[in-house]
Amino acid sequence: MLDFVVIFTKGGVVLWHSNASGSSFASCINSLIRGVILEERNTEAKYFEEDHLAVQFKLDNELDLVYAAIFQKVIKLNYLDGFLTEMQSAFKDKYGGIPAAERLGGDYDFDREYRRVLSAAEEASAKQVKAPKAMRSYNESQKSKKTVASMIQDDKKPAEKRVNIQESPSPPSKSSEAAGGASMDDIIRENRRKLREKLTPTKKTSPGDQKPSKAAATEKAGKKPRVWDLGGSSKDAINLDRSKDTPEDVQYQNINSELVGTMQGVIRDLDVESEDEADEQDEEESSEEEQQELQSRKSKRGGLLSYFKGIVGAKTMTLADLQPALEKMRDHLISKNVATEIAAKLCDSVATSLDGKQMGTFDSIASQVKEALTQSLVRILSPKRRIDIIRDALESKRNGRPYTIIFCGVNGVGKSTNLAKICFWLIENDFNVLIAACDTFRAGAVEQLRTHTRHLNALHPAAKHDGRTMVQLYEKGYGKDAAGIAMEAIKFAHDTRVDVVLVDTAGRMQDNEPLMRSLSKLIKVNNPDLVLFVGEALVGNEAVDQLVKFNQSLADYSSNENPHIIDGIVLTKFDTIDDKVGAAISMTYITGQPIVFVGTGQTYADLKAINVNAVVNSLMK
Ligand code: GDP
Repeated sequence: MLDFVVIFTKGGVVLWHSNASGSSFASCINSLIRGVILEERNTEAKYFEEDHLAVQFKLDNELDLVYAAIFQKVIKLNYLDGFLTEMQSAFKDKYGGIPAAERLGGDYDFDREYRRVLSAAEEASAKQVKAPKAMRSYNESQKSKKTVASMIQDDKKPAEKRVNIQESPSPPSKSSEAAGGASMDDIIRENRRKLREKLTPTKKTSPGDQKPSKAAATEKAGKKPRVWDLGGSSKDAINLDRSKDTPEDVQYQNINSELVGTMQGVIRDLDVESEDEADEQDEEESSEEEQQELQSRKSKRGGLLSYFKGIVGAKTMTLADLQPALEKMRDHLISKNVATEIAAKLCDSVATSLDGKQMGTFDSIASQVKEALTQSLVRILSPKRRIDIIRDALESKRNGRPYTIIFCGVNGVGKSTNLAKICFWLIENDFNVLIAACDTFRAGAVEQLRTHTRHLNALHPAAKHDGRTMVQLYEKGYGKDAAGIAMEAIKFAHDTRVDVVLVDTAGRMQDNEPLMRSLSKLIKVNNPDLVLFVGEALVGNEAVDQLVKFNQSLADYSSNENPHIIDGIVLTKFDTIDDKVGAAISMTYITGQPIVFVGTGQTYADLKAINVNAVVNSLMK
């Protein structure tokens, strides 16, 4: 069974190929061209292997063409020599008159001839297998010559039998045995069908297709939620909902046991659809008539052939070549909510990295741009330094001082809610926490934290922690100096041996100079271990402005030689954005700092670590 047949020039330009799933064999053909044809190495062997594939090829030195047949190397096809010779003469008959200069531009409709040559070759080969052997008489048979002694010796030499097994096209299947009286034809047909089933790649076989099948498999198996290094499994997270154990008189406003532990807003694994793939999908869903139209559309545009046509071996990419693909990519990133400025910068850097680079024979500019961009996105999202809160908090504890985190950001992004989630996570890791209520501005801010403190203590009562109260609230009401309250809170934590202090601050607009000054002062005088910027995943271009100005203000108003600016990001409301995950890129690009936590809902368990590959896949979809 042949997987793919292709006719190309010795320089690597494809003139014709047998089916649309050719791109999955591109790597093998590329290797053949680079490693054998271009270097004129080992061309006499006319056989080449890569991974599980084998290529038998024929060179036509008169027309400077190569005829190649690709198949799974585990199978033996004895008709290939003859088949390739027939292909060559049929192609020559039809197109041999075209002058070499015009050959590359031609449109080669060779499907009918290919089918004819192939079925003739397959038929001839089947006949060889089928040719009935004349029955030998008993006297002619080996058996008649055997003595009892020779039979006993034969038992010790099973080699003869093994040879026979290897020679047969495939071992008889149970079903054919069961069929008993099935003819040789039936057996061959059945064996072929099975081999085809086993070896034929599923319908979508282009490189981009590998992902959907994986995604489908993952989807079937169910998404595995992100597991914190020290935070236990997500199953634990469900178990962590102790609200059921709590006394009935405790008022729960925010904890809904049904919601706890369900991981919402998981980024789906995504694939990149090409035009051909889109057509394939259309094909699946369309009626017969529509399919015919699709087919003719495909053949008009040359199907995959048109994809191959623009591809010439060893081409050097120029900015002009790259521009259309880069523009598409930029628009795509913007549609995923990446800030316009960042999308443009990313594409510029991809252009710089690809300009002047040599392309492989079967590479397309779009795939090169996509690959370079993917790498660059992974780099941006991968933290240059790891923020390990658990490790650092343990270290602080050993040194007898509380580990301090200050949360900042604009109004309503989820500072208090996610502070409470982080508090929950810390308690789960056996740290006790002091929440400093330093939003002395917004009415209700202190009460909100008071409610969280009560809920968290109900979930983790002191009785279950050797009498330690796991969360306390340090509050001084409204209108007071936030920096002063934070300082008192940290001192209180130090004196009473609290492990971690979480400082909530008032939401503020990045342009509000007095409020930005006071945030800078709060950070300067309290010298926290970590400053986390809380930002919504919903934000688009605004993300850039917020982060640039927060960082700028923290630096400008600090009057410190080494001002403490933003160390990391809490990306909230990730459950509400579907696949528009661009804010993650904008925020990390601007700050160069990692996303430490991702908020994925409104319960204490809805806190995750970022999954870089999933975000990048989602962006590239
Ligand atoms: P703050 O003003 O920044 O302190 O924001 P809040 O903590 O009061 O949160 C504002 C709103 O956002 C509340 O209704 C929260 O329940 C909601 N919220 C916070 N984080 C998330 C999240 O990760 N997902 C969703 N869907 N809502 C969130």
